[in-house]
Amino acid sequence: MMRLVDMHCHLDLMTNGVEIARAAQEAGIGFFCTTVTPADAAAAQARFSECPNVRVGTGLHPWWIADGTCGAQDAREAAAGAAHTAYLGEVGLDAGKRGAASIEAQARAFEHIMEAASAHPLPGRIASIHAIRSASRVLDILERTGAARTVACIFHWFSGSTDELWRAVHLGCLFSINEHMLATKRGREYARILPADRLLLETDAPPELHAPYSLEGIERSLTAALTRLAETRGVDPAALGADIAARSARLLGLA
Ligand SMILES: [Zn+2]
Repeated sequence: MMRLVDMHCHLDLMTNGVEIARAAQEAGIGFFCTTVTPADAAAAQARFSECPNVRVGTGLHPWWIADGTCGAQDAREAAAGAAHTAYLGEVGLDAGKRGAASIEAQARAFEHIMEAASAHPLPGRIASIHAIRSASRVLDILERTGAARTVACIFHWFSGSTDELWRAVHLGCLFSINEHMLATKRGREYARILPADRLLLETDAPPELHAPYSLEGIERSLTAALTRLAETRGVDPAALGADIAARSARLLGLA
């Protein structure tokens, strides 16, 4: 049984990711390894194929569209991949400083990915979604494509408005919460008011890409987020942690 599950972690962008995954398996820690390009997703699937506690998402991160690393061909590949995998992420939209100029290309890619997923339903499909200054547009796409009904959509590090939060709740979305989100007043308020059955934990680690990281760093971050979340909600951290771990394990099909 998993003790902790990191529902949004860039394990494949840590040079020692496999080592960390193996130690985590012993420690009862599971991962949703979100990737940033379709090529990275394929590489990560191979790299973590022997790690029973890791699920790899097929991703197309908006920043990699924004900086020109990924173009229309990658968007087609990501959509083709989305049609036959149960794990999607990191996908989404970024209309903040880093992504505003490419928001239309991002929206086309995200819509194609969600359309492909909707057109080829798979039981237990999940998506980890990035939404900066674009939660309404993400929700429009989830509704329009039908993904809101057929995919367990997880907002990673939600930063939209309160209205957008409730719209996402009413659409059935889940929320993975990290310690950075809980460092802000608004983040804590969202963490306090969200329905208990929508809560998940994440790290969004590593802080530095393509460098070594540590299981200690991941566990410390997950535990800090859990402690803060329990404090904010006035509940017992052990019970909350067990509830979130069970929900996460179910979403990832982890034993
Ligand atoms: Zn991420």
